[in-house]
Amino acid sequence: MNDTAIKKYRLSDFILIGIIIICAFTLTAVFFTSGKNELCVSVYQANKLIYQKALSEVEKPYEYTVYGDLNVTVLIENDGVTVISSDCPDKLCQKAGKLTQSGQSSVCLPARVSIILEDSANATAQNELDGIAR
Ligand SMILES: [Zn+2]
Repeated sequence: MNDTAIKKYRLSDFILIGIIIICAFTLTAVFFTSGKNELCVSVYQANKLIYQKALSEVEKPYEYTVYGDLNVTVLIENDGVTVISSDCPDKLCQKAGKLTQSGQSSVCLPARVSIILEDSANATAQNELDGIAR
């Protein structure tokens, strides 16, 4: 007589366990896919994308200078991006230090330059840059 009660209990138990397993797999999948995304640096000047590079393609550290009323020089390395010099008076962009994680950015308001580190999957502006380069 308790059979049906036990079966129901077990069925709901299995469903619950199933949901937990599915959630765990989903989280793991999300974690792995986000981990596999390449970091990509985007440099904007006056809201225009002027430079973009996947950090995985950086073999040797090099400097990239944004020329304008105020020049901003960025050191681009395999594992991050650093503003190493700027003509701006506040130097806030340099104080941001090295950007190493997706979503981090260094903005130089006086020079109207922003350096943004993002996942290459999110770097939708890539096509736009290709258009300019051609
Ligand atoms: Zn600055």
